[in-house]
Amino acid sequence: MFFRVMVFLCCQLAGGLLGWWQMGPWGAAVGAAVAIWVWFTWDMLRGTRVVRWLRQGELAQAPRLHGLWGEVSDRARRLLRQMQGQVQESEQRLQEVLSALQASPNGVIFLNAAGCIEWSNQIAAAHFGIDLERDLLQSIGNLVRHPDFSAYYAARDFSSAVVMAGRYSTPACPVRLSVQLHPYGQGRCLLLSRDVTALEQAEVMRRDFVANVSHEIRTPLTVLSGFVETLQTLSLAPEEEKRYLALMAQQAARMQSVVQGLLTLSRLEGSPLPGLTEWTPVGQLLRACEDEARALSALLAPASQRVHVLQFPSLQALQGMGEIAGAQTELQSALSNLVGNAVRYTPASGSITVTWTRDAQGGAVFAVADTGPGIDPVHIARLTERFYRVDRSRSRETGGTGLGLAIVKHVLQRHGAVLQIDSVPGKGSVFSVCFPASRLRPTGWKADGVVPTLTAL
Ligand code: ADP
Repeated sequence: MFFRVMVFLCCQLAGGLLGWWQMGPWGAAVGAAVAIWVWFTWDMLRGTRVVRWLRQGELAQAPRLHGLWGEVSDRARRLLRQMQGQVQESEQRLQEVLSALQASPNGVIFLNAAGCIEWSNQIAAAHFGIDLERDLLQSIGNLVRHPDFSAYYAARDFSSAVVMAGRYSTPACPVRLSVQLHPYGQGRCLLLSRDVTALEQAEVMRRDFVANVSHEIRTPLTVLSGFVETLQTLSLAPEEEKRYLALMAQQAARMQSVVQGLLTLSRLEGSPLPGLTEWTPVGQLLRACEDEARALSALLAPASQRVHVLQFPSLQALQGMGEIAGAQTELQSALSNLVGNAVRYTPASGSITVTWTRDAQGGAVFAVADTGPGIDPVHIARLTERFYRVDRSRSRETGGTGLGLAIVKHVLQRHGAVLQIDSVPGKGSVFSVCFPASRLRPTGWKADGVVPTLTAL
C-alpha cells in the first residue's frame, strides 16, 4: 500500500515538475492534474485486466501484475486453485461412491422429489429395463408399470418391500425382485431392488420337500395302520392274514427306504469332500454294479422268466481301467443306482449297456444306456430333484423312493463329476457320468473271478 501511495505521489511530483518546467506555476498545477488522470487510467486498466480474468475464471490465464492488483490476482489465483482442488477431491469421492454403488449386487436408484430418476446403477437398469441415457429424469412411476409396484408406489407406505416380477421375467426363466423405497432428504427417495429368485425357489423347494417327506411317510403309514386295524378287529383266515402281513412288511420297507435315502442325503451334505487318498479299482466298482444289476433283473422278472440283456465291459477291459479316487461306498452307490434304474425302468427283455471310456483330456465317462421307455425332455432337468418322479406308480412298483438321482447327483458333485442325461421317449435313455482326469490313475486290478461279458439272464 505504501508503495502504491509512493508511486501515486511520484507521478504527481513528476507531472508537477514537468508542468513547472514548461509553463511555470500554473503549468505545475495542470501537470499534477494530468499526472493524476494518467495514474488513475493506468490503474483502472490494470484493475480491468484482473476483473476480466476473474470473470473468465481460467486459472492458467491469470494476469502477471505488480503492486496491489498483482497481489489481488495472486491471492484470487491461490483461492481458486484451492477451491478447484476441493471440487476435484469431492468429485473423486462422489465417483468412488458411485462406483461402489455400481459394484453392488443390488439395484440402486436415486429419485428426486418428483419421483424422477437422477441416477441408477446397471443392476437396477437390468432389473427394471431402464435405459441409463434415455430414461434419466423420467418418472419411475411411468417406467415401472408392474401393477404390484404401481400399487406400492401409489400407497406411499414404504415401510416394507414389495415382491414383483422383473422386467425380463418369463415363465421359463422367472425373475423375482424385492423392491423397497427409502425416503430421505427433502422428498427424495432411494430405491433398492434385490433379485430374490433363488431365495424364492429355495423356499418353494423347502416347502415342497417338507410336503413330499410327509406325504412319502404318511402314505405307507396310513396303509400300515389300516392293516393293523383290520387285523385287530377282524378274524381272518390264516392265508388272508399272511397276505396282509406281507403287504404291511412292504409298506414298512418303503418307509424305511425313504428314511434311509433322507439320511444318506443329509450325511452327504454334512460330510467333508472326499480327497485323493482313497483309491478304488474302477473294474471292481463296475463288477459290483453288474452283480447287483443281474440280481435285480432276476428279482423283477421271476414269473415270466424274461430278463434283461445286460452288457458290461469284458473282464480284460475291467482289469485295465485303472483306479478312481474318492469315497468307495459313495461311488459304488451312485453307479449302482444308475444301473439299477436302467434295470427297473426297462421292460423285461430290453437291453442295458454299461461302458467306461477315456476321453481326450484324460477324464473318463461311465455310461448306462437302456432301451427302456425313455424320458420326455420336460422332465430331464428336474430328475435330480428330491422326490421327483416321471411315473410315480412305476417308481413305487419297483421300490423307488424318488431320492435315487438326488443322491447320485450329490455324490458326483462331491467327486467333481458331472451327470448328463440323454433320452428319446419310446427309445431309451443314456445316463453318463464324466469323471475328471485328476481323480483317475492307471493302476491295474486283478479280478478274482470270471465275469461274463454278455449274458441274457
Ligand atoms: P426312483 O426311486 O423313483 O427311481 P430316481 O431319483 O432314481 O427315483 O429317479 C427319478 C425318476 O427318473 C424316476 O422316477 C423315473 O421316472 C426316472 N428315471 C430314472 N432312471 C430312468 C431310466 N433309466 N429310464 C426311464 N426313467 C428313468
